[in-house]
Amino acid sequence: MPTNGASDIDETDLRYRVGRLTLEQKVALVTGADFWTLNAVPEIGLDALVLSDGPNGVRGRRWDERDHALLLPCASALAATWDAAAVREAGRLFGAEARRRGVHVLLAPTLNLHRTPLGGRHFENFSEDPLLTAELGAAYIEGVQFEGVAATAKHYVANDSETERMSYDASVAEPTLREVYLAPFEAAVRRAGAWAVMAAYNGVNGAPMTQNEKLLGGVLKGEWGFDGVVMSDWSATHSTEASALAGLDLVMPGPRGPWGEALAAAVEAGRVGIEVVDDKVLRLLRLAARTGALRPLDSPSRAAAPVAEDTLAPPPESVRPAIRELTARSFVLLANRVPTGSAAPLLPLPSTARIALIGENAVKPTPQGGGSAQVSPPHMVTPAYALAEALAAVSPEAAPPTVHRGVRYRRTLDPFEPAELTDPVDGLPGARVEFFDAADRPLLSERRGGGRLLWLGDVPAGTARMSWRSRVRLGGPGRHSFGVLGAGRTRVLLNGSEVHRYEASVDPADQVDLITTPVEERFELAITEADLGADASAELTLVREPVEGHVLFSIGLGHAGPGPSAEEEFAAAVAAARAADAAVVVVGTDDETETEGRDRTGLGLPGRQDELVSAVLAANPRTVVVVNAGGPVLMPWAQEVPALLWTWFGGQEYGAALADVLLGAAEPGGRLPTTLPVEEHDAPVLHARPVAGRLDYGEGTEIGYRAYAARGTEPLFWFGHGLGYTTWAFEEAVLVSADGGTEDLAAIGADPDALGAEPGTLAAHVRLRLHNTGDRAGREVIQVYARPVGGPDEPARLVGFASVHAEAGGFADAEIGVAWRSLARYLPGVGWRLDPEGYTLTVARSAAETVAPALVLDTARVPPP
Ligand code: BGC
Repeated sequence: MPTNGASDIDETDLRYRVGRLTLEQKVALVTGADFWTLNAVPEIGLDALVLSDGPNGVRGRRWDERDHALLLPCASALAATWDAAAVREAGRLFGAEARRRGVHVLLAPTLNLHRTPLGGRHFENFSEDPLLTAELGAAYIEGVQFEGVAATAKHYVANDSETERMSYDASVAEPTLREVYLAPFEAAVRRAGAWAVMAAYNGVNGAPMTQNEKLLGGVLKGEWGFDGVVMSDWSATHSTEASALAGLDLVMPGPRGPWGEALAAAVEAGRVGIEVVDDKVLRLLRLAARTGALRPLDSPSRAAAPVAEDTLAPPPESVRPAIRELTARSFVLLANRVPTGSAAPLLPLPSTARIALIGENAVKPTPQGGGSAQVSPPHMVTPAYALAEALAAVSPEAAPPTVHRGVRYRRTLDPFEPAELTDPVDGLPGARVEFFDAADRPLLSERRGGGRLLWLGDVPAGTARMSWRSRVRLGGPGRHSFGVLGAGRTRVLLNGSEVHRYEASVDPADQVDLITTPVEERFELAITEADLGADASAELTLVREPVEGHVLFSIGLGHAGPGPSAEEEFAAAVAAARAADAAVVVVGTDDETETEGRDRTGLGLPGRQDELVSAVLAANPRTVVVVNAGGPVLMPWAQEVPALLWTWFGGQEYGAALADVLLGAAEPGGRLPTTLPVEEHDAPVLHARPVAGRLDYGEGTEIGYRAYAARGTEPLFWFGHGLGYTTWAFEEAVLVSADGGTEDLAAIGADPDALGAEPGTLAAHVRLRLHNTGDRAGREVIQVYARPVGGPDEPARLVGFASVHAEAGGFADAEIGVAWRSLARYLPGVGWRLDPEGYTLTVARSAAETVAPALVLDTARVPPP
């Protein structure tokens, strides 16, 4: 797959174009034009480059619930497939989405690691393992860039937690940095040829990443030869000369920022050489050439194309089956026991079963985590809908599942769905949102969908006041609770009369909190028959004076009508479980528990969910627990429930994939990309709280399962663990040469240069045959771990993996490449070195379950890279 467009690019032409620009034009190019676009320069054929978040979808240039984008499972779920080909295909879907939406640069993938299970952006990252992250991150990038769209490896580097994320300085020893945290970025650049890299908010070893000369100019551009664009994370640049000289190429967002005129002045005063600015512009033009934003200079019309209008066309339906299959493949079957009185494991459930579907996440599943990664999916397939459909497809007489929420743990009331709202202006589903200036002149009036809306830097200029109004379906008279979202001075009107007002002024350390966890003002109203129209609806209006200086912004209305008490809801769920053949409890977190901008405070499931699982299990021993979360949660009942299925933040087709797996139409194909602890204190690094601004990575290279192994702590489920619906037998493994031949490996053993082998260069292969001994087709993931012969106490590391598929009773051959670099260690001042005594390799089904006798790899027989 072509990954790096460098060869097609006419560098002489790019330099010629740079030479045609004035200093003013150059500095105007290296700071964004706004939040998501760069400036166009028609005279040199340069269109405006458009950037968009990732990584679970392509949001485009607006944060607008009407503007739908495909929503795939989160990155940890993609990693759980342990399948580079599947992740490459996902990358191609993102690339095609970006093209459809006029986006040239996707701000993804996120290549930081699962250092702490409390990390707010855990879901956005692939894994706790550098090799797995490197392999899958590279595949993601190759897929995106195959479509002619730039991928952005972010956030470079050591941005593995959110506490004080804008300012902490990570203190990381060089071997740890090289072997663990830089490894995925190195693969992104040297192997996948990433066209862009994003410099993180934090610092590393004393220098903020946007001005870290050693890691930008030195490692990234110097050692690795990166020829793309280094952009800042949003508002992460705090210096002019230091950042310009260190190797940063683009300050985002714009148009303000520390470069602009100050950079031009620094050039004029000789403090920054013009060649430094020219190099940044050259890189931007190279990016434009790679992504189709640079027109030939001799084309008849050199006028730059206007920035493509946002498309509100829906994403293609045709890709839904592929997303559904990928989603099922990411689900990890953690346990599948034989319930008392049964002959077979609980899953898959027979399609004749009367199922009680229970849980807040069963009714309102969480498809994605919070923060800049969020997109507005075209639809959300819920488990209740999909299970009912699947059961009815088998037999029209099948009983649909009974559905009970059981608990309510979310901080805010349920926002109104578009179908519960009618725009009073045009009578269509939704709410009318209007903006006014200080003289009350209308600036914008439009229909929006849903009861929770966000803006990110795109509120009309001059807005002094805005309003949200809609005819909302309330159901009937009685005491209703309402929750208004967002800061500012706000009045609430019912049928035109004020019923509530409040003023909330917040000054968050991180502006992203304004949209990820907006203030909720709750109040109750006694609604009478007289308040309600014919369809039991009333007009509700929110009038808001936004807080000055808040660029990010949200408004919304949540609601709970008169209904059963919390105890009654809980009891109804347990009673439904008792009456059913099997219970499926979906527990989990939401996009406020797991969000950018904030680390989690604990690993316990929010609310009374643990209690609910225990009560349901007591009522019905045939209980399946499904976890809908991005990062680890504690599961105190894990040894008691017969079946336990981990399903991540599963994207738009979540419910359909879940029904497929529960009823056996698909196998849960995933393996854990991160270790799940028994207790919080088992986690090798729990809280990542900087001390006086410094975050010490004192645990060194022992991340995730390596740290559990080194300390002798038994987790609940090891990295790599996952069951399927069939069983396997493994033949003895053999070691073969890097090119796959079975002949003796030549005894060379020369030391490589300091840079070491290209990431991905293989040292050897492990070959073995698997036998599917079960009665259905299945997929197995084979993992190879290594430890140096000369370091018997060192925890083993993942050095290679592969997946196979075989029909019932069939055989499959696995060939697992062992990467040279995954064996080598980095010695400061020397470079990468293999252990002279060789390595012990084990073939395994997880970091703790070995399936074949150990092999010894003699370093003298490893060819040099
Ligand atoms: C995030 C980035 C994101 C950017 C633009 C930042 O706060 O850290 O991941 O790409 O915002 O939304």
